Amino acid sequence: MNAFGAASSDAPLKQLTIHRRTPQPSDVEIDILYCGVCHSDLHTVRNDWGGTIYPAVPGHEIVGKVTQVGSAVSKFRVGDTVGVGCMVDSCRTCGSCQQDLEQFCLNGFTGTYNSKDQYLSTPTYGGYAERIVVDEHFVLRVPSNLDPAAVAPLLCAGITTWSPLRHWKVQEGSRVAVIGLGGLGHMAIKLAKGLGASVTLFSRSEGKIEDAHQLGADEVIISTDAAQMKSVKGKFDLIIDTVPYVHDINPYVGALKINGTLVLVGYLGKLDPMLNSVPMVMGRKSVAGSVIGGIAETQEMLDFCGKHNIVSDIELIRMQDINTAYERMLKSDVKYRFVIDMASWR
Ligand code: NAP
Ligand code: ZN
Ligand code: ZN
Repeated sequence: MNAFGAASSDAPLKQLTIHRRTPQPSDVEIDILYCGVCHSDLHTVRNDWGGTIYPAVPGHEIVGKVTQVGSAVSKFRVGDTVGVGCMVDSCRTCGSCQQDLEQFCLNGFTGTYNSKDQYLSTPTYGGYAERIVVDEHFVLRVPSNLDPAAVAPLLCAGITTWSPLRHWKVQEGSRVAVIGLGGLGHMAIKLAKGLGASVTLFSRSEGKIEDAHQLGADEVIISTDAAQMKSVKGKFDLIIDTVPYVHDINPYVGALKINGTLVLVGYLGKLDPMLNSVPMVMGRKSVAGSVIGGIAETQEMLDFCGKHNIVSDIELIRMQDINTAYERMLKSDVKYRFVIDMASWR
């Protein structure tokens, strides 16, 4: 089938042909309508984390229509609108999988792209493609009242910020801060507000202040302004850090309450400068990390969004414009998620 991918870390994405497995008894075949553009797609294509398999076909914020179901499929029918996020398989038997924590599968989950297909042992290819074949366990129901294009980013940006909000028990009256107003950041604001928290955005960009308030933020702190940073010392129960590149997190630890947690979801790698343990020790504060969320938790998030009418703020693009979209994403010039309209390409 046709797909869009990159042949190497410095090559632009272009049209190519990929092969997927023939649907198995528990598989669902999905005609892809929309696919969100996550910063992880760009990290993978450019080999920022090492280990990229080429050609790389990214895309893990997928919404589409079911076109075929295997004989053992019970949850879906042809014609259903469904979603697929960052995982397409896991062992289903380990302690993590048994607890609906497939993202922590002890045998490693199968990523939607840049992983190994469990049946063919060939690389997995993501949603920048015409269709995808996925075991029904990893397929999500999309609430019918929501715009399917604007739902796509919930499958990664949504669940990645929902999971820490739930794990750290954010509720009415919690004080939550979000660092970085991009794809993950704007969903974190909407979801934390939906749960009843008061929400502060930390941003480098003065130009995003008005948008942040429109998205639901109660307060915006410009992180490069020392006086503003000082004004929120000891304030937050939970801070979700979505910044993709290395940065100093020490000032944000200072903004946590006693017992507060800063959870890293953006940057992967060694911290620089190093973390000062004093504020953590003296305030029982934690610095943690989190990756996406389990399948049951993803469905919970989608159902919550259906109930509260929460979707992503998107800019629809054509498949052919993906390389320009990547350059704009690197400049934080996106409000607040690009979504590829697959119909534009057929
Ligand atoms: P994005 O849309 O590009 O947003 C990132 C935001 O971070 C920017 O809008 C900007 O906000 C801020 N920022 C960018 N560069 C910065 C820098 N050098 N220093 C400080 N702030 C900076 O990216 P995204 O799609 O939300 O993804 C964010 C990160 O999360 C990526 O690294 C991605 O790979 C990762 N991710 C992780 C998971 C997981 O499961 N843990 C899942 C999905 C994505 P301001 O302009 O407001 O400062
Ligand atoms: Zn992602
Ligand atoms: Zn497992």
